[in-house]
Amino acid sequence: SAKAHGRNCARVFDPNDPHTSDESENIAALLKIAVTQNLVSMVYQPLVDLKTGSQDAAEALMRLKTLDGDNISPTLFIPIAERTGIILELGKWAIRTVCREMLATNQADVVSVNVSPIQLRTPGFAASIAAVLGETGISGNRLAFEITEGLDMEIHSDVLRCISDLKMLGIRIWLDDFGTGFAGLSWLRLIDFDTVKIDRSFLHDIDTERGRLMLGDIVDLVRHRGPNILVEGVESEEQLQCLRDMNIDFAQGYYVGRPAPAVRSTVGSRVLSR
Ligand code: C2E
Ligand code: MG
Ligand code: MG
Ligand code: MG
Repeated sequence: SAKAHGRNCARVFDPNDPHTSDESENIAALLKIAVTQNLVSMVYQPLVDLKTGSQDAAEALMRLKTLDGDNISPTLFIPIAERTGIILELGKWAIRTVCREMLATNQADVVSVNVSPIQLRTPGFAASIAAVLGETGISGNRLAFEITEGLDMEIHSDVLRCISDLKMLGIRIWLDDFGTGFAGLSWLRLIDFDTVKIDRSFLHDIDTERGRLMLGDIVDLVRHRGPNILVEGVESEEQLQCLRDMNIDFAQGYYVGRPAPAVRSTVGSRVLSR
C-alpha cells in the first residue's frame, strides 16, 4: 500500500486500497452534507484569447472543505461523487451557483462548467438546466460545459441527444483533457465541439523540438475538424509564447491566472461596473 512507501512519500489515494477505503467513505459522507453545510464553493480560472489578449471567459472549478476547514482535491472527491451518484446533486448545485454568481459578480462573459458523463446520461438533465436558466435569467450562450473523455464512457445515443438539447439552449460544448485517452478521437468524430482543451501534459517537454512536434500533431488533428483550440496548464511566458507561435486560440494556466473566488460586484451589475 501507499503507506508502506514511507512517510516522506505523498500518499496516493486508491479507493480500492483497504488502507484508504476509510478515507473514501469519509469523503462520501462529507459530500452528502456538503451543500447544506456550505462546504462546497466554486472558484474561477481565466482563459486568455491569444489573438486579442482578452480574458472574457473563465472555468468554474469546485472546491470542498472538511468540517475542520481543510481542502480536499477535486481529483480525490469527484471520482467518489461519481461512484456514489452524489455528483448529480453536486453538479446541479454547481451550475445553479455559477449562474447566480454570474448575476451578482463581475464574472466573465462565458463560464465553462465541468460536467460529468453521468450527468449527461441522466434523463431530464437538459430540462433541469433549462429550468436553472429560466430561474436565474442567465442566457445559455454564457455557459459552456466541459466534458472529459473517459475510457469507460461509451457514447450512447442518449448522451448525444442530451448534448444536442444543451446546444439548443445555446450552451457550448467543450472537450476537456484531450489527448489523455483513446476515447477522445471517437468523441471528436461524433460531437461538434466548440472548443477542444488539450491536456497540460503536452506542455511538459514543449522546450524540446520533439515536444513541440507532438503538440503540433495533436493541434493539427483537432484543427482539421474546426473547433477552437485551448492548451491547459501554461506556467511560463516561454510556454505562452510558444503557443502564440503555434497559432493556438486560447490558453489557460497558473501563468495566465490562478483559480479564485468570484468577486462580488458593488453595483450589482457587471455592465455598470465596467
Ligand atoms: P480540469 O477540468 O482539467 O481542470 C484543470 C485543473 O488543472 C484544475 O485542477 C486546475 O486548478 C488545474 N490547473 C490549472 N492551471 C494549472 C497549471 O498551470 N498547472 C497545474 N499543475 N495545474 C493547473 P482542480 O481544480 O484540482 O480540478 C481537477 C479536476 O477535477 C478538473 O480537471 C475536473 O476534471 C475535476 N473538477 C473540478 N471541478 C469540477 C466540477 O465542478 N465538476 C466536475 N464534474 N468535475 C470537476
Ligand atoms: Mg475542465
Ligand atoms: Mg476534466
Ligand atoms: Mg482539463
